[in-house]
Amino acid sequence: MASSPFQNVIPDSRVFRQVSLRDYSTMRVGGPADYMIEPTCEDEIMKTLHAAKAASIPVCVVGNGSNLLFSDAGFRGVILHIGKAYSRVERDGLRICAQSGALLSSVSRLAAEEGLSGMEFASGIPGSTGGAVYMNAGAYGGEIAQVLETATVYTDNHVETWDNEQMRFSYRHSAAMEKECVILSAAFMLKAGDKEEIFARMNDLNSRRREKQPLQYPSCGSFFKRPEGHFAGALIEQAGLKGYSVGDAQVSEKHAGFIINRGNATARDIRALMRHVQSTVLRESGVMLEPEVRFVGSFDA
Ligand SMILES: Cc1cc2nc3c(=O)[nH]c(=O)nc-3n(C[C@H](O)[C@H](O)[C@H](O)COP(=O)(O)OP(=O)(O)OC[C@H]3O[C@@H](n4cnc5c(N)ncnc54)[C@H](O)[C@@H]3O)c2cc1C
Repeated sequence: MASSPFQNVIPDSRVFRQVSLRDYSTMRVGGPADYMIEPTCEDEIMKTLHAAKAASIPVCVVGNGSNLLFSDAGFRGVILHIGKAYSRVERDGLRICAQSGALLSSVSRLAAEEGLSGMEFASGIPGSTGGAVYMNAGAYGGEIAQVLETATVYTDNHVETWDNEQMRFSYRHSAAMEKECVILSAAFMLKAGDKEEIFARMNDLNSRRREKQPLQYPSCGSFFKRPEGHFAGALIEQAGLKGYSVGDAQVSEKHAGFIINRGNATARDIRALMRHVQSTVLRESGVMLEPEVRFVGSFDA
């Protein structure tokens, strides 16, 4: 086998070739990536980025893959998969500090166990800390912008700590998107609270999710951003598209804001369905829906 640009840079045990991206996306679609690296420390993240740059190989950072649609052709480059191997979470006074691979469910659970309130909104969002900070994830009136104290980021070849203001959060947006930087870790500033009340609130929000969302099917959650003054799901439903399918990709019957994979959907089916939804909603209500989901790889064919 040809030598890899990561040989002698990253331990062989953390470099994988021809990895099916389907297994790294909650939508369960996607072809192979040339390389995948699962870093265990900051140093490996930086070395991966340097080696990829030196070899002119495209890089895509992936957390829990819950907001990504991978192309059927996969990705010609390296997936920097920041997950379980880089996911320490700890308490520091009123803060919870998390490495970017830590799942939000773990961050919220530790906060609750420690009697710290503020992360309840995030416990049912199936993302990593890095993905959630990057996207300014939010639900039920809470969002990352309300609790993030600082984020440590790798940008322009060095590590910086950005405070909340420097992150310039807005709806599903952060400064990290503008500079293509990698989130390494985050510190969330919380408030002392009653442990039982915190767990009760988390349980309530999660049962509301189970009731309203088609969680038994693969999806990326709400496929479209919330348009100003509207709800995407309501516009899609009003346009008569609940249950509309392209192949195995379907507008969920349970929640029209979700596009689900009923088993064998391809990325191509999902994109075709997305376009149909966009053009029908535009015609019916004059609103252009913008995807919240991000696309990785080539969708030209
Ligand atoms: C069932 C379901 C319910 C959902 N509910 C919600 C909800 O209520 N609210 C909400 O906001 N979202 C929701 N989502 C969407 C998703 O969980 C969030 O957007 C989440 O923040 C994405 O995190 P991730 O780790 O999965 O990111 P990924 O999907 O892996 O990546 C998303 C983006 O973040 C970038 N990224 C990931 N990690 C890093 C990092 N360390 N540094 C820099 N960039 C990085 C990626 O390059 C990509 O551009 C839902 C998804 C599903 C499947």
